[in-house]
Amino acid sequence: MRNLALHHTALDCGFENCLLCELGFLFDMLEKAEGQNCQATNFLRNFSRQPDAAALGLLEEHAASASLTVMIQNMARFLLKSVADNYRFLESSSPHMDMAIATTGLATKRCAHCGFEHAQDYSTYCHDLVYPPKQNKHSPRSARQYFSQILKASVESHDQQRGWCPKCNAYRALSARKAVKSLPAVMLLNAATHNNDAKQLWATPSFLPREIGIIVNDGQIYCYEGQDLKLHLQRRMYDITVYELVGVVADINSGEHQKPHLVATIDVSHMSRDTSQEESWHLFNDFLVRKTSQEEALRFDPGWKLPSVLTYQVKTLSHAVDDTWLKHLDTSVLYRSPTTQNPSFRPLSNTAEVPTAGTPCPIDAEFVQLLREEIDVKADGTREVVRPARRGLARVSVLRGAGPDEGVPFIDDYIAINDPIDDYLTHYSGLRPGDLTPGVSRHNVVKLKAVYKKLWVLLNLGCVFVGHGLASDFRIINIHVPRTQVVDTLLLFSLASRSRRNLSLRFLAWFLLQEEIQHNAELGHDSIEDARTALRLWRKYQEFVDAGVLERMLDEIFRRGREVQFRPPEREGEVGGGGPVTPGGSAPGTPRRKAVGIAGGTPARMEFGSPLRER
Ligand code: ZN
Ligand code: ZN
Repeated sequence: MRNLALHHTALDCGFENCLLCELGFLFDMLEKAEGQNCQATNFLRNFSRQPDAAALGLLEEHAASASLTVMIQNMARFLLKSVADNYRFLESSSPHMDMAIATTGLATKRCAHCGFEHAQDYSTYCHDLVYPPKQNKHSPRSARQYFSQILKASVESHDQQRGWCPKCNAYRALSARKAVKSLPAVMLLNAATHNNDAKQLWATPSFLPREIGIIVNDGQIYCYEGQDLKLHLQRRMYDITVYELVGVVADINSGEHQKPHLVATIDVSHMSRDTSQEESWHLFNDFLVRKTSQEEALRFDPGWKLPSVLTYQVKTLSHAVDDTWLKHLDTSVLYRSPTTQNPSFRPLSNTAEVPTAGTPCPIDAEFVQLLREEIDVKADGTREVVRPARRGLARVSVLRGAGPDEGVPFIDDYIAINDPIDDYLTHYSGLRPGDLTPGVSRHNVVKLKAVYKKLWVLLNLGCVFVGHGLASDFRIINIHVPRTQVVDTLLLFSLASRSRRNLSLRFLAWFLLQEEIQHNAELGHDSIEDARTALRLWRKYQEFVDAGVLERMLDEIFRRGREVQFRPPEREGEVGGGGPVTPGGSAPGTPRRKAVGIAGGTPARMEFGSPLRER
């Protein structure tokens, strides 16, 4: 699934609600984060917007009292069906997704009224386990039930449903007989345990086999486990496919102090690139991920822990991590030229300006507030954040970071936000009502996915993002950028041992570049200006490093910063809201003079200043 999702996401999929693309973004983020925390914010937002998700009762807010097992089973089926549809959207004739997740076959349906039979191809993405009928208590010792028998019966199950009979020209009760053609590489089984007998089965020690061998022959399947499987493998008589258990979702319901909840236990070794990795079971619950033993992972107890969904995967596909999608990354989204009235904007040329590994991309993003922070003030006066504020990405600007057009933006997208906007945060974002409304805005308003895709493509081309305080921006954008691909001026100009204070872009621009930015509180920030400023600060930083004066400059920044409370002083005669005094003037002891003074004994390049300073 990971391979197919990334393969798909690397293509030019313009479908805004594509869950498969979101899965690709999510898989890529998890891999790049290498074990650091990730939030599935964008995936979940997209999921909750799927028209069917609410109708099927997959969202907690619409199904507060639903059984968690039923929810996760429906969710698994819905997710697989959706991604299969999304996959076909771009590659209608490719069988790869169905080979990965679908059981295919021919269902012969027979009308209970007239006996007419007609055959139809079918695809099943999840099998509901069908447990044997209740055993007679009076029969002599009932035989042990094996999982493999139940699996066979479930995959071949003959179901009764109502459907259209072409002969009767009416809806009738139809019985379906299934002839299995092929089984998927990844098989999801819904372990719906509806009665006590079925629940008791799960208490049988080692009821759930780690490995199952399956033969598909003439519409029927044959399943083997344990010694039977060993024998069949030794004989090599049939084309037998061995499946390994890779994960279990279990419903935990002890009925005591805890609310019922789901946990997933997954043997993550199968997803490892390292083929020698031993099995490695991990438990995932609502709060944490921790290592667990196979024994604990696969132990069930009808009293409090029963399986909801089981996943088996073809054994030979373990460790089959495919990264060829990177070579087929469709970059066309970068070169599409939007209609914009911004005269300083120029789309990238797909011949002369192709970004590659190491290409610097100055970036800045603006956000609006979607949901206000909810705070609970307790009796003792302490405040507790019940729900943090939720912010939404509203504008992204990316500029050329080098070359003759250095500083010229090639992305300046405003994002169409569907959710109600609580606060435009104009003072920071520079955005006002209307700016994000297509047809009303004078800006280039795009869907969130379009701009996310551009950033994701730049990321996977190996570009280096240059900006100020990017960590929080990336968190809200929901993208993970490896440290090697970030130049963050907030960290470059860290005062480190001197102070824990973070320096603002505005202060650094005033002090080091003698530039006024963000000077009009009413207009707010401008992400193009901020990104350009970060680029100049980075160049400045490189100058300091080359000249060997970085530490002295940081001392100087700290000293002067303290004098002005790390804020550019207001211009004389202006009260509040006005611009800062430009420090490059004749005021004694201005930082610029100091900077030159420090450079006195250093290479000449400092004396001449940087090209940036001459702008
Ligand atoms: Zn897609
Ligand atoms: Zn009929």
